[in-house]
Amino acid sequence: MDDTGPVHQHNGNGHHKLNGHHPVLLLNSNYEPLNVCHIRRAIVLVLNGKAEVLEEYDLMISSAADLFDAPSVIRLVYMIKRPYPRVKLCRREVFIRDNFTCQYCGVQTRDLTLDHVVPRSKGGPHTWENLVSACRQCNHRKGGKTIEEAKLKLANTPVEPRASRYYPIQRSVNKRVNDDWLKFIPDFAPTADVPRS
Ligand SMILES: [Zn+2]
Repeated sequence: MDDTGPVHQHNGNGHHKLNGHHPVLLLNSNYEPLNVCHIRRAIVLVLNGKAEVLEEYDLMISSAADLFDAPSVIRLVYMIKRPYPRVKLCRREVFIRDNFTCQYCGVQTRDLTLDHVVPRSKGGPHTWENLVSACRQCNHRKGGKTIEEAKLKLANTPVEPRASRYYPIQRSVNKRVNDDWLKFIPDFAPTADVPRS
């Protein structure tokens, strides 16, 4: 719950409402990166004694009563258990799993389509195991047919990918993260590389 009252940002010209441009990296009590949260939520966690501030923005913010430095990285005081993150099933994640490669002819391209191995018209489900990346040509050739009918072969057996260690953080940041986050998330890569075509 948000009980800090309005939180404002100081920039020398008075108070401005905080926006989403100051994300906060949330760590578990063992320093394991958990997520990225909005600065308001971070402040609530800190003010409620549930988290401590490890890094700060060069920015002052005020709540109803206080003026303090805006947190950039916070660490929970208590260890929380969370289920292992799962990759969200969507076009882009299927393409990333397949390394932007058509699973029928092997061409690597950005111009991919999502193919149901067992066509939906034949009862094929919308699952990791039944979805593959296909180039337009192969998609056209396959149409509503099964792979046997279309005389195509799959390069790999499609399975659900394992969420990378930083998956929840990758989903929350666009291109880059704050420099002062990097020591907490070594080897962080914002997103999978997309080949040019
Ligand atoms: Zn193809």
